[in-house]
This record gives sequence, structure tokens and C-alpha cells, in this order.
Amino acid sequence: MLQETPLRSVAAGVPGEGKRPHAARPFFFISDLHLSDAIPHTVAAFEHFVRVTAEQADSVFILGDLFEYWIGDDMLAEPFVARMAALMHTLPERGIALYIMHGNRDFLMGKRFMKAAGAIWLPDPFVITAFGTRIALAHGDALCTADRGYQWFRKLARSRFAQMLFLAWPYRWRRALAERMRSDSEAGRARPPLPKYDVTAEGVGALFKKTGTTTLIHGHTHRPAQHREPGGTRWVLPDWDLDHGAHGEKRGGYLRIDTEGIRAYRLD
Ligand code: MN
Repeated sequence: MLQETPLRSVAAGVPGEGKRPHAARPFFFISDLHLSDAIPHTVAAFEHFVRVTAEQADSVFILGDLFEYWIGDDMLAEPFVARMAALMHTLPERGIALYIMHGNRDFLMGKRFMKAAGAIWLPDPFVITAFGTRIALAHGDALCTADRGYQWFRKLARSRFAQMLFLAWPYRWRRALAERMRSDSEAGRARPPLPKYDVTAEGVGALFKKTGTTTLIHGHTHRPAQHREPGGTRWVLPDWDLDHGAHGEKRGGYLRIDTEGIRAYRLD
């Protein structure tokens, strides 16, 4: 069903694949789980999503910031990370394709991780055709064009040279920097988000134009909604957090596309 780019389907040839009514199986979209071993309830919700919710899926798309941070594929040596990769690998083993896009926190996820997770990496933005509708997928950070400081950082951080320098650091230095950035962003959690940290009409309009689509799915802003924009419909995925809210509050959810169209679901 992915027609824009000749993607190898990880589902092909997996035993059991032929038993499912392939055309009717839905696509699921999640993003911004910010997984780490510090948030066990959110991790448990992701495990439930992979093992139970996604069981009926044709494909699962993770549109960035699956992990709180990613400092190189040598993170796979950490038991928590290895456990998450093995969990995700059960998707292709069950005939469910897994596609992962980078976010602004985990853009260093590389080939070794994708292989360990059984995932196919998607560039940002990427266009799929799902149940007859062309849909642009993006993490969303590149659409926040009012935040010029961040866009400058993004450009630098995505350069091969900067990544080479960073990845050449000893693991514990990289980890210390990531932990510091994490505590800075924890401190920012309490403040109301400024408008400049949301996507802009210009950024969204340009993406619709560039991709020739009228439907967009993205995450990053943590403002789940369905927006009618001048250029089309914009669906925003929720972030997940089952560890910081009071009274067992579950924040999180996913989008599902099937023959009925696109629908948003909260975590069950
Ligand atoms: Mn993000």
C-alpha cells in the first residue's frame, strides 16, 4: 500500500502473512513517547500497544521521538534499549511492517538500531498512500518555522560533520550532555508552550504544496487535534506520558487509518 517509494516490505514472506485479509488491515500512527527506563508506566503502555493494539495492523508508523534521546546506536548495549528493540522486532515477526521516522530527540537512530528493531527508516517528510488517500507524514519540528534558533540548530545537528564529531565522543560524555538537555527540558515542562513552538501556517502550507497532498499527520507539538488548514487537513498526534500525571492519568493515543478513514484513539 506504500506507493511513493519502492519500499521493501518487511512483512513479505513472513509465515502467517497470507492468513490475514491484507487489504482491510489498518495503519497505526504514534509519536512522541519519549521512552526511557525512568518512565515505566509509559513503557508498559507502549508494550501493550505493540503486543495487543497493533496486532490487527498492516503497518505501524512511529513519527519521531520514540526515545527521550538517542546518542548513537551503541545505546543498544543498554538492557532497556535492547528490550525495546526486541519488542519492536516482534511486529515484523508477526507480519506487521514497522516504519520509523526520526524526531528532534532521536535523529541519531541509525542502521544498527533499525535492524535490531526490524524497522524501515523513513525520511522526513514522507508521502504514503493509505486506503486511497495520499498522506504526508512528518515529525513536525521542521514545520515550526517561527523558531529560528531551533531551525538553525536543526540544520547544524543534521549535518553529517556535526554528527560525526558528536558520535566520536566517548559514550559517557554523550550521555552526560543528553541528560543535561533532558533536565533543561523537564524544567520547561511546567511553563505554558509559546506560540513559536507550534507549527506555522507557512510551514504547513509549504509542505502541502511540496508533497502535493491535502492530508498531513505529524507529532512533536504535543497538541493533539484535527485542524482544517487552507491547504488541507492536519492531524496532530499526542505525546505519551503515563508517569507524571496525578491519579493515574493516561496521556497518549494513536491515529488509525482504515476503510472508514482517519480516526484518533486515546490509549485503552
Ligand atoms: Mn519532537
